[in-house]
Amino acid sequence: MEKILEIKNLNLGFNTDSGYHQALYDVSYSLEQGKTLALVGESGCGKSVSAMSVLQLLPKNAQITDGEILYSNKNLLDFSPNEMQKIRGKKIALIPQDPMTSLNPLFTVGDQLLEVIKIHQGVVGEEAVKKAIESFDAVQIPSAKERLKNYPHEFSGGMKQRAIIAMALACDAEILIADEPTTALDVTIQAQIMELMRQIKEEKNVAVLLITHDLALVKENSDEINVMYAGRIVEKAETEDFFKNPKHPYSVALLNSIPSNTVKPLSIIKGQPPTISQQISGCRFHPRCSKCFENCSETIPLLKEIENNHYCACHLY
Ligand code: SF4
Repeated sequence: MEKILEIKNLNLGFNTDSGYHQALYDVSYSLEQGKTLALVGESGCGKSVSAMSVLQLLPKNAQITDGEILYSNKNLLDFSPNEMQKIRGKKIALIPQDPMTSLNPLFTVGDQLLEVIKIHQGVVGEEAVKKAIESFDAVQIPSAKERLKNYPHEFSGGMKQRAIIAMALACDAEILIADEPTTALDVTIQAQIMELMRQIKEEKNVAVLLITHDLALVKENSDEINVMYAGRIVEKAETEDFFKNPKHPYSVALLNSIPSNTVKPLSIIKGQPPTISQQISGCRFHPRCSKCFENCSETIPLLKEIENNHYCACHLY
C-alpha cells in the first residue's frame, strides 16, 4: 500500500521562560491511501502537536529539532509558508474538534464553501453553486441549496462538522486530519460523522489521521492504532490485533478503563501523565506502571517489532 505521508523521527519541543522542553521524542508514523490511522493517548501526550506539525500550524515557541515529514517524497519541513499554503486545506485538510474555529460566523456557509471552490478549483458562478450543492449532498446535508444560505450559527454541531468535511472534499483533499472530530457532539451524531468519514475514506481513497483519546471510537473506525504516552509512541499495531492482544502496560490499562457491558469493574490508571517540563528517566510510564521493575527507571525502552507488524516500547518484551 502506498504511503502518502510519512513522519520520521520527529523531535519537537517548546521554548519557554524556564528553557526548552521536549514534547515529542522520535515520533514516526505513516499514512496510507484509503486507510485510517488512529493516534490515541491522554491529553497532552503529543498527538495533536505531531499532527499540527504536519500542517505547520504550531505555536511560535515550538521548535522542531530533528526529523522529516514526507509528503509525496518531499520534506514539508523544507517548504516555505507560501508552498505550505498550497498544501494546507487543499491536499491536507483539518477537521477540528470545534468546527467554529474553521467557519467564519460573519459569512454564510455557502459563501465560505464557494470561496474554497473558487480558490481550489478555479470555478465561479452557476457551476460553483452546482459543485457546492454536490459537496453538501455528498456529506448528506439535506436541502442543500437552501442550507447554503445559512450562517454557521444556524447549523447544529453535527451539520457544521459535515460542512467542514464538504469543504475538504471540494478541495479534493488527499489527507484528512481529524483532531477529536466528534468530542463536542452527542453520541448518535458522533456515530453519523464517523460513518460519513468512513464512507468518504472508502469512496475517495483518502488517508485519515484520527486523533482521539477515545479508544471505543477507534475500534470501529481505524485500520491501525498508534498509542502515545508523554511524547513517545509506545505501541503500534493493526486495530483488530491491538484490541485482541494489547501489549504495552499503558495500552492494557487504557483498555481496562473503557466501560463495557460486562460486570468487570473499571480500573483506573494511578497518577497523572507527566508535564513536558518534568524530567523522567528510563521509561516515561514507569511512575504509573503496575509492571515496573528495576531496569524501567534507568533505560529508555525502544519501540521494536515484537510480533508480526506489532510494535511495543517496553522492557517486558
Ligand atoms: Fe512498565 Fe517497565 Fe514496560 Fe515501562 S518498560 S511500561 S515501566 S514494564
